[in-house]
Amino acid sequence: MSGLYIHIPFCKSKCAYCDFYSMPHREELHSAYIDALIAEAKQRCEEVGRDFDTIYIGGGTPSVLSKANLQRLVFSLSEIYNLSENGERTIEVNPDDVTNEYVDFLASIGFNRISMGVQSFNNSTLKLINRSHDQDSALAALEVLASKQWNYSADLIYGLPGEGLAEFADNLKLLLKFHPKHISAYALMIEQGTKLWAMVQAGKLQPCPDEEFVAIYYDLCEALRSSGYEHYEISNFAKPGFRAIHNCRYWDFTPYLGLGPGAHSFDGSLRRFNPANLKDYLGTLADNQQFFKIETETVVDQLNDYIFTSLRTAAGISKKFLELRFPSYAGQLWNELAKHPQILTNAEFGRVDEKNWLMSDAIIRDLLIV
Ligand code: SF4
Repeated sequence: MSGLYIHIPFCKSKCAYCDFYSMPHREELHSAYIDALIAEAKQRCEEVGRDFDTIYIGGGTPSVLSKANLQRLVFSLSEIYNLSENGERTIEVNPDDVTNEYVDFLASIGFNRISMGVQSFNNSTLKLINRSHDQDSALAALEVLASKQWNYSADLIYGLPGEGLAEFADNLKLLLKFHPKHISAYALMIEQGTKLWAMVQAGKLQPCPDEEFVAIYYDLCEALRSSGYEHYEISNFAKPGFRAIHNCRYWDFTPYLGLGPGAHSFDGSLRRFNPANLKDYLGTLADNQQFFKIETETVVDQLNDYIFTSLRTAAGISKKFLELRFPSYAGQLWNELAKHPQILTNAEFGRVDEKNWLMSDAIIRDLLIV
């Protein structure tokens, strides 16, 4: 079955490291935005079929929506599509929106998984990166989720300003007290156009040195392995049985439909994307016009996408999948994989060892087909 992604581009404030399509939210736009999403959902209801067994409402910060708007969105999607009863239904939330009452509401409208951005427990770091929550609200949210035994994922970022090996270890230790089923830990990327980028350019901030990233990454892998987590993708760790099914879809060519400005879709052969422009999105959908654009992708582009994503996963590149999907290139690529000193191959898979994932860009560059 396929995955459904809904993008909510509103946030309380703009985090200093963020280059996702999001903007400070304006409540007066929410209702029109939900109308537009519903119109797009109806318009594209045959694109990858109507059956979805994962739904992921991300952003942005979906928890800035009022309960009435969120409920209207979820109920409308249930009427338009066949959403599997037992499927994975995830929503991203900010810690300062999580209360007993709010997560009970989420459960009542069908969500069974939460993804929450903690990033750090250090108040001065949180302030510097402009997060809307503080340590107390993160701890309170984790208490709520743990006490209700929610299936949730918590995000941390390593390499944040002022946080080295010891500080990240403290963050991780604190998070592990709550035994989340899933942890996403991202190396800080300082992207052009972000506030952190401007601070680096102005000489007000020194990026974390590469050696420190590597040291933190090794500590992270070891700490989570010894706590019973499977490291299944460069930034993702899960207790057995709790991998993020929806996100795995992006790495194995399963079709998915993405709605909202900035969202991407893949129907099994064609990729489409929605331009990241809320104003145009609202206007176009109000006129019931098509908003998405088609990405022109060659077979080689698709193969390179597969190499790029799969070599960051524990599963790696599947020989069978290569032969089925890319028969003209499978032999050549498999020979390259077998020869590469940092790739481990067996009869079925070629993969990069966990200890080299952080350096996988260079390995991937060697293998991309041009
Ligand atoms: S809450 Fe998430 S999407 Fe919003 S600005 Fe921060 S990092 Fe970006």
